[in-house]
Amino acid sequence: MSETPDFDYDLFVIGAGSGGVRAARIAALNGARVAVAEEYRVGGTCVIRGCVPKKLLVYASRFSDDFVDAAGYGWSVGETSFDWPTLIAAKDKEIGRLETIYGVNLAKVGVEVLKTRAEIDGPHSVRLNDIGKVVTARVILVATGGHPTLDRTLAGIEHVITSNEVFHLQEQPRRIVIAGGGYIAVEFASIFAGLGTETTLIYRGEQILRGFDREVRDHVAAELQQRGVNIVFGDIATRIDKTVAGLVMTTRGGATLAADQIMFAIGRAPNTAGIGLERAGVAVRPDGAVIVDDFSRSNVPSIYAVGDVTGRIALTPVAIREGHAFADTVFGGREVCVDHRTIPTAVFTTPEIGTVGLTEEAVKATGSDYDVYRSTFRPMRHILAGRDEKMLLKLLVEQPSDRVVGCHIVGPDAGEMAQLVAIALTMGATKAQFDATMALHPTAAEELVTMRTPSERHRS
Ligand code: FAD
Ligand code: NDP
Repeated sequence: MSETPDFDYDLFVIGAGSGGVRAARIAALNGARVAVAEEYRVGGTCVIRGCVPKKLLVYASRFSDDFVDAAGYGWSVGETSFDWPTLIAAKDKEIGRLETIYGVNLAKVGVEVLKTRAEIDGPHSVRLNDIGKVVTARVILVATGGHPTLDRTLAGIEHVITSNEVFHLQEQPRRIVIAGGGYIAVEFASIFAGLGTETTLIYRGEQILRGFDREVRDHVAAELQQRGVNIVFGDIATRIDKTVAGLVMTTRGGATLAADQIMFAIGRAPNTAGIGLERAGVAVRPDGAVIVDDFSRSNVPSIYAVGDVTGRIALTPVAIREGHAFADTVFGGREVCVDHRTIPTAVFTTPEIGTVGLTEEAVKATGSDYDVYRSTFRPMRHILAGRDEKMLLKLLVEQPSDRVVGCHIVGPDAGEMAQLVAIALTMGATKAQFDATMALHPTAAEELVTMRTPSERHRS
């Protein structure tokens, strides 16, 4: 029996990505009549052109190390070669499979999926552009995600690709220049370098991955350079030219960087332009993000927003959690708001970063006393392989509370480790509790519970 018979739906979701799909499913499981509109492909950025295809490319890029390292363990690996079209075809097949599963899972709980662009028409009405119809809903959820930003005024910008196109290149570029120094730029620099592409990363600042712990940034930049990534710091593109030999980026610093592909990864912006928010009076920030409260509600009581479109933290698990909390609150009869404080995150470079909690710079800024525990070592697997790459483990312990407030890892499986350490940090674990945890030997992660003496003590 419908809760709101005078509306076509109880909930209309715009965007079938991480946040929208979760919200739609949970609302439907709570008995709501739900429809979701998707203008591109069900699954959204993460599944179609983000986390998942990216991670598949990361796996592909790491085989080059394995072939080399195998020799130290007695293996003879014959001549190897890599075929980009084979990888892309396999990736596309997997993404197609996942997209189907997403659709099936929505259908199973009775969510109606409408393959159309949708725009808000009013506080309770949505215009379905490709269907040519307006429908009504008691609640509208904006879960439209974001898109890569580009400087449209840059001469030759039409020649560059973004993360949207990189997954569909017909051929592997022999040379690539990647602009940016955030997650996407460094992950793709690492992927292409691992696949054998001559890779240049051009970043405007003095060190990549702003916002991460300084030591982690320095460590990863050095390892990427060691692996052959040419990093140009403190410079930006001023024009791009297409020549018979490929593309050329000219920079403010006077460099000319030749490449077969130039990729820009200079951030993402919320998908709010042209979706009718102004018709309903929904307030947005200057960057276009929908302004929401702790329950993801906009200033218009019937309109909510979750995920990247809200400009909070642009990570899939966060969008999912926000979508779930929204559905619990509005359709599940229990108020849930998302805690955005202790969010683990990984950067899938090689070597990988896994991190949770505060950076050392952030701890310092609190003015608290703190200790740093640091361990830098060659992972066991690298020894016989003869690979001269170090792992970094760093714990930040606030004093006198003894709480572990930050954990930063660089090395194999860092993301997996950060996920598990996040449980302890979310529980408010102290260093004494880390120390009381039995080590698991021989692992790299055991260092997290065996570092006894602080590397540094910081007291005000
Ligand atoms: P999205 O997943 O972007 O979904 C929004 C959906 O809305 C899209 O399908 C879009 O087509 C649709 N849409 C937009 N406007 C309309 C409209 N008007 N009508 C109908 N449909 C519309 N996060 C991680 O946690 N880990 C990672 O490893 C990771 N890797 C990433 C790699 C890349 C290359 C990128 C780009 C992102 C990555 N992210 C990663 C971030 C992650 O993908 C996003 O945070 C997440 O997808 C956000 O989910 P969302 O539901 O807010 O939006
Ligand atoms: P980020 O915000 O992470 O990085 C943007 C980069 O571009 C920064 O280095 C920034 O420099 C630089 N930049 C910004 N504007 C300009 C400009 N005008 N000219 C030159 N450089 C510029 O964005 P991404 O696009 O890399 O990724 C978007 C988000 O997607 C991430 O923040 C993350 O939340 C999510 N994501 C998560 C992943 C994961 O979990 N592994 C992987 C990929 C994406 P500066 O630092 O100086 O501002």
